[in-house]
Amino acid sequence: MPDHAQLDRDHVWHPFTQQQGWSEEEPLVIERGEGSYLFDSEGRRYLDGTAALWCNVHGHRHPAIDRAVREQLDRVAHTTMLGLTHPGATELAARLTAIAPAGLSRVFYSDSGSTAAEIALKIAFQYQQQRGGEHARRTRFVRLREAYHGDTIGSVSVGGIDLFHSTYRPLLFETHVAEPGDAADLERVLAAHGGEVAAVVVEPLVQGAAGILVQPEGYLRAARELCDRFGVLLVCDEVATGFGRTGTMFACEQEGVAPDLMCLAKGITGGYLPLAATLATEEIYEGFLGSYEEFRTFFHGHTYTGNPLACAAALANLDVFEQERTLERLQPKIALLEELLAELAATDEVAEVRQKGFMVGIDLGDHDDALRMGHRVTVEARRRGAFIRPLGNTVVLMPPLSMAEDELRELVAIAKDSIHAAVTESILPV
Ligand SMILES: *Cc1c(COP(=O)(O)O)cnc(C)c1O
Repeated sequence: MPDHAQLDRDHVWHPFTQQQGWSEEEPLVIERGEGSYLFDSEGRRYLDGTAALWCNVHGHRHPAIDRAVREQLDRVAHTTMLGLTHPGATELAARLTAIAPAGLSRVFYSDSGSTAAEIALKIAFQYQQQRGGEHARRTRFVRLREAYHGDTIGSVSVGGIDLFHSTYRPLLFETHVAEPGDAADLERVLAAHGGEVAAVVVEPLVQGAAGILVQPEGYLRAARELCDRFGVLLVCDEVATGFGRTGTMFACEQEGVAPDLMCLAKGITGGYLPLAATLATEEIYEGFLGSYEEFRTFFHGHTYTGNPLACAAALANLDVFEQERTLERLQPKIALLEELLAELAATDEVAEVRQKGFMVGIDLGDHDDALRMGHRVTVEARRRGAFIRPLGNTVVLMPPLSMAEDELRELVAIAKDSIHAAVTESILPV
């Protein structure tokens, strides 16, 4: 059998990874998954505390989603959305617009959260240009400090996490920056620059990659009202928050907000295959209509856009939401998680716990970067049978929505023991 750890060290370059440290550690080679668990090449099992990097919804190897992908495989694996359509794409578009906030009636497919955000930016920009007159001056975007919308240059331009983004600053387009969760600051920015702003871009309710920063209640609602007042579009990036993650199908619902553009990815296929969608209102869509030679076309599209296998998984994902009453059954589990986390928050080793639904950030407070405290915790967790990921000194728990109560208890217990072990060990001389 090939030595996958060695092949990895010899040939693979991992995302968001300092390869020097990585190649000194024994990589975990995951061979299969089942429900809330991952199994490595040695047969050891780990609770999947990251939901396959925030996208798994109903657990690994869900029979209904497995079957839907297999059945699609018997028809065709891939065609194209450029000049063709297919049943999965049409049906999914209808179902997404039916469950999305009011007014979002058009679906533009792509394949990652970054492209979904990139597309929202380009649509917003081109829409304002094509409206003409005063609107043509609307060429700027407002982003939130600590925002994350993906890793392509456009999405990085509206991002605000210095650690990830500052290197690329010279390549990025200029933006106006507002403080996260501070409606008065957004008002200040729009009052100063409103006439030149195409859109405000936000992660609704929770800024995930910032370390699970939860916005104060009413912020999103206020952002919507400010956008309306200043004639600016609102883009909600629901890539992380969508598909039940915050307790409702979409985070926007909790504040009764309907954005002009909405970005979906991660959970859209239940965590099975790469697929993304940028939803737009009919008004925006109509702004792109015209005869061919007017060149109002949206000239954008990726090769695997609207892939049929991914659409089949996405449709099955929505079916499972209905059949298993996922959102209803999630509510008591959110309450349980809150209870379990309250105990954890009371320990000396934890500075703060931030939670919205099934998004959790356990902030360990200030530690020397060189200690890599968040990372140490995840190494300890792995020894105890859970796979979790840190964001700096914040330990993130992002379980699949299907995770059972006893598994949630186990996950939080492992997190607690691992934090204790990592903090205690790091203060001992080595
Ligand atoms: C993960 C994420 C993205 C980027 O998605 P990719 O599929 O990794 O490109 C964009 N926006 C938000 C809010 C995210 O959490």
